[in-house]
Amino acid sequence: MERERYFEPVPSLPDFVKIEHKILKFWRENDFLKQLIAKNKGKKKFSFLDGPITANNPMGVHHAWGRTYKDVIQRYKAQKGFDQRFQNGFDCQGLWVEVEVEKELGFKSKKDIEKFGIDKFVEKCKERVIKYSKIQTEQSIRLGQWMDWENSYYTMSDENNYTIWYFLKKCHQKGWIYKGEDVVPWCPRCGTAISQHEIVTEGYKELIHPGVYLQFPLKGKENHYLLVWTTTPWTLTANVACAVHPDLVYVLIKHNGKFYYLLKERLNIIEGRYEIIKELIGKEMINWEYEGPLSFLSIQKGIKHIIIPWEGVSAEEGTGIVHIAPGCGHEDFLLGKEFQLPAICPIDEEGIFLNNYDFLSGKTTKESEELIFEALKKENKLYKIEKYIHRYPVCWRCGTELVFRLVPEWYISMKELRYQIMEVAKKVQWIPSFGLERELDWLRNMEDWLISKKRYWGLALPIYECECGYFDVIGGKEELKARAVEGYEKFEGHSPHRPWIDYVKIRCEKCGQIISRIPDVGNPWLDAGIVPFSTLNYLKDRKYWEEWYPFDFAVECFPGQFRNWFYAILAMATVLENSPPVKTIFGYALVKDEKGEDMHKSKGNVIWFDEAAEKMGADIMRWVFVSHNPFENLHFGYKLGYEAKRKLLTLWNCYSFFVTYARIDNFHPKRKECYVDLKEVKNPLDQWLLSITNNLIKNVDDAYNNYEFDKVPRLIEKYVDDLSNWYIRRSRRRFWKSQGDYDKWSAYHTLYYSLTTLIQLIAPIMPFLSEEIYQNLVVNINGNVWRSIHLNDFPEVKEELINKDIEERMALCRKLVSLGRMAREKVKIKIRQPLRKIIFLNINEKEKLNDLVPFIIEELNVKEVIFGEKEEFTDNFVKVEEDNLIALLDIALDEDLLWEGFLREFIHRIQVLRKEAGFEITDRIIMGYQADKKVEEIIEKNSAYIKAEILAEDIKRNLLEDKDIERKITVNNWEILVSLKRK
Ligand SMILES: [Zn+2]
Ligand SMILES: [Zn+2]
Repeated sequence: MERERYFEPVPSLPDFVKIEHKILKFWRENDFLKQLIAKNKGKKKFSFLDGPITANNPMGVHHAWGRTYKDVIQRYKAQKGFDQRFQNGFDCQGLWVEVEVEKELGFKSKKDIEKFGIDKFVEKCKERVIKYSKIQTEQSIRLGQWMDWENSYYTMSDENNYTIWYFLKKCHQKGWIYKGEDVVPWCPRCGTAISQHEIVTEGYKELIHPGVYLQFPLKGKENHYLLVWTTTPWTLTANVACAVHPDLVYVLIKHNGKFYYLLKERLNIIEGRYEIIKELIGKEMINWEYEGPLSFLSIQKGIKHIIIPWEGVSAEEGTGIVHIAPGCGHEDFLLGKEFQLPAICPIDEEGIFLNNYDFLSGKTTKESEELIFEALKKENKLYKIEKYIHRYPVCWRCGTELVFRLVPEWYISMKELRYQIMEVAKKVQWIPSFGLERELDWLRNMEDWLISKKRYWGLALPIYECECGYFDVIGGKEELKARAVEGYEKFEGHSPHRPWIDYVKIRCEKCGQIISRIPDVGNPWLDAGIVPFSTLNYLKDRKYWEEWYPFDFAVECFPGQFRNWFYAILAMATVLENSPPVKTIFGYALVKDEKGEDMHKSKGNVIWFDEAAEKMGADIMRWVFVSHNPFENLHFGYKLGYEAKRKLLTLWNCYSFFVTYARIDNFHPKRKECYVDLKEVKNPLDQWLLSITNNLIKNVDDAYNNYEFDKVPRLIEKYVDDLSNWYIRRSRRRFWKSQGDYDKWSAYHTLYYSLTTLIQLIAPIMPFLSEEIYQNLVVNINGNVWRSIHLNDFPEVKEELINKDIEERMALCRKLVSLGRMAREKVKIKIRQPLRKIIFLNINEKEKLNDLVPFIIEELNVKEVIFGEKEEFTDNFVKVEEDNLIALLDIALDEDLLWEGFLREFIHRIQVLRKEAGFEITDRIIMGYQADKKVEEIIEKNSAYIKAEILAEDIKRNLLEDKDIERKITVNNWEILVSLKRK
């Protein structure tokens, strides 16, 4: 026979983590997401765009923050009946993966990779991505995230790569793709350019470099020198000019028997005595000729070193005369172009001096420093060397100091495109709203988009370049096949990656030569930026793409993404469709440790996701994330977890209270005898709770719908506080000890409705806890419902249950109670000590409070509540005042009140003992005691009342031989020995 379905008992202290594992198993065994997708299929769509997570390492807690928002919004939209795709994405290609694989294999440079074999290396990269995408999937599931995991997209897919080809061809057709020479930040270890985007985002470190002061002899002026400053001595080999600020004041000084020029404001760098000979304006120095620092190097032969004007010269540091090497610095390069200076690049891609650099050939830039100082000393061109601490760009992947190198790279021109993207960006709703300004600011200032990388694992840039100067961009696999003149059979069956793609050759359309693809791979933001198209089958099924594009919502961590992912999706959608790819972009800030510092492996302050999930619980972590203001950095730690847990225990206690008493009273929401129509409840507490519950539904709905996620926990916490500290507290006696059946069942129905509504509202944020409670409150007593809470619709607002009047009246009632409590607090009289009366003044329409007066009496433990007209003072009154309301509390105590207070306290202490002894709420007991005659008298006189309160069948005037617990307690200075025995 099937056991009758009913509420299971609820532990008063839940193990949230254990519950989560139980629920995970339950979800795994039942493919609820599939049911959810099927349930909403064909309805109105909500299109969520997942920014891909780099599948290169296990997930950190910062990933869990974003993934929580992603899960919350999709669960909420599912409750609202929207058809959704639930697609997750993995970012796969790029230097970040290569660097980790190099570490695994113990590689030091690109040479090691080529020796190992590019094909094997690329396979290793793919393997790593697959491995970590599996790990991240498991971690996300642990977080409670529901996604169609089998359908995750991977940016390394053919579809993704060929859609980028299509995009690049479009750019090429508009004439925006070009090969340019520029001085770019370069990682000598990774052997590749690092794009501006990557440096701005995370690529600076505080470093110590030599601050070198040099003296360059002026030509035609005996014993006159320019004082020049640099922090990169190796670039002196490429010096061709010095720059001065045309409008600032310079001085000529006599110092150590020599004459020096420098900026007047920088005189403080001179060591020792000096004499100012004259002042002059920078302009006057232009075109002066000087002898370069290492003029004996063959590469320097024939170069005329001159002074040029530059408004970028700073008066804050150095000497005001800046060393210029157009082959070694980006700004230098631009100046070089302007003044037609030669650009010398002294180093190769590993940062090693080229062959024609005499004593420096074969040395790294670091190794060259001492040798250069020696040479400068010999030449008498060194003034002094200091230590210089500054923020200097480093490789964001491997930490190596960057150098600046003149190289040919491929770019997308931003000349026209930036303005088009700006127009598209303005059509997006940015949350927070300053996001738009940040994005526009980036677009206004960004340089052309550097898209090439001299690496292995990445998008094969479909650029085919011929010696004749012509180049072509291939827009897809079919086009490649059609254009191929050799190698296609060898490529077929492989992914479009190096080295396989490079078997294919095509013919130059201009001169007919057979040409190859350039060896470069693409910038990884191309991979992530194309997903609004590639994941919706843009090239093969335009109709499907149209159904889901533009996306409704995307959420990512914003500080970096204005330059990266947000930028990339906007840029690519502008080129392909000239439309915003997503309607709303939501950004959140960074995760720091509890002290506000960056989490770093090396600092030992990293909290790993797995650890946090098992220690704190996923639900609590999610609650912490969602509660936080998304636009401020989150100082994450276990302390926040404890706070959240404390608040949630209040919710759990309400649930546990309900189940405990429902089981005692055998309440069943479906049973006829218990039936109560919620529209007709009479008790003001029930009317009030039903009303605030329906307001809560409205407010939570609005908050989710407006993406004001952090508002939801605030609303819920306030509601749970109302529920626990007012409704249940004031209704306690209505359950179980209720006066009449109708009032009892009314309380049960009201609380049941409130709890089942509440869990549905928190389900998007706390999928586990809400599921656990749902299983017991709903599934356990009713087989005919959705088996998971997450298949249910969002609760509907029942307008007829909203009652403004009772809300206002109850608010006033609670206000008066809080005044009364303040008065008691002032004189430190415990709430269990009854008092004669409290008088409230300045209450308008006091008759509105009539039915609520009993709550004030009980809550404040007074005999009488009086709504008075004017203040009458005696010594026995305490006065408190707030918001123009006045409470006067009579604190005079007589013998009767004192003994009454004694009894209340005594009963309370016995209840505590019952708990300590582990008795059930319904257990009947026998009590024995020993006390003073006076106490004995009081207990005897009130024995009926005491018996009813503590569920005692008998009270004996001596201690029990056979007992479960025995204690000495002190009540109002009376000592009493008590023993209890369960019947
Ligand atoms: Zn590097
Ligand atoms: Zn050609």
